Amino acid sequence: MPELPEVEVMRRSIRPHLLGRRVVAVACGAKKLRQPIPDEDLHRELLGRLIVEVGRRAKYLQIQIDSGAMLVIHLGMTGNLSFSPSGAPLAKHDHLRLALDNGSELRYSDSRRFGLIRMLDPATAAEAESRIFADIGPEPFNRGCSARYFHQLAATRRVAVKVLLMDSRVVAGVGNIYASESLFRAAVLPQRPAGSLSLREWTRLVACIREVLGEAIDCGGSTIASFLNADREKGYFQMNFHVYGREGQPCPKCGAPIKKVVLGGRSSFFCPTCQR
Ligand SMILES: [Zn+2]
Repeated sequence: MPELPEVEVMRRSIRPHLLGRRVVAVACGAKKLRQPIPDEDLHRELLGRLIVEVGRRAKYLQIQIDSGAMLVIHLGMTGNLSFSPSGAPLAKHDHLRLALDNGSELRYSDSRRFGLIRMLDPATAAEAESRIFADIGPEPFNRGCSARYFHQLAATRRVAVKVLLMDSRVVAGVGNIYASESLFRAAVLPQRPAGSLSLREWTRLVACIREVLGEAIDCGGSTIASFLNADREKGYFQMNFHVYGREGQPCPKCGAPIKKVVLGGRSSFFCPTCQR
């Protein structure tokens, strides 16, 4: 499942292909994603329009249109965006095509269909956007997402620190892989009650979260099952995993076998010696 780094990698890889391009044709498949694809809205808001920016909030891509409309795309579990020459045959799992004025087209494919495509019209885009993102916590790279923020918010929480980090209402987009890796770097056990971390430990943890996410983005994300960027390149951050998916293998710092524990229904990996 793409986490924040993979979505950011996708944003950076589609942006240069889309900026300043005009949409000349729209075609939707008949199958439903998490919600039906808004075929009519896409035609009305996109045809003949210019793409002026490609942004991201949490794991949502935000394609800005010159009219003020916004196309919002969530990749779900297996969603992917890529470019093909216009008119190339549709692949089995292609659900949306946007043909551009330079003869290429953007395609959204998604085999498991947990993705989401929303078209926000110019009149209500701002309001709809704040509604969609109302429950999502701050971006991990934002100044507001500080050690003090976590320390205050976690003060009375007994939930495991890893479960708190994976709660998108607390912080946007830090999923299972990057929560495990950040906690290892910060030398904090994933099962510690969130409220038991000192401000000093949060300071270290926040720095490690930013470091891990930043390195993952620089590596083109992690390709575990199928993730490719829009230029069909794999990410290689999985080569740098210290604990994730490494149960029983030696800790890269101390050599002790990596252990696994299930927290909040998800597998968490840690070193029982290095993490406290
Ligand atoms: Zn260790």
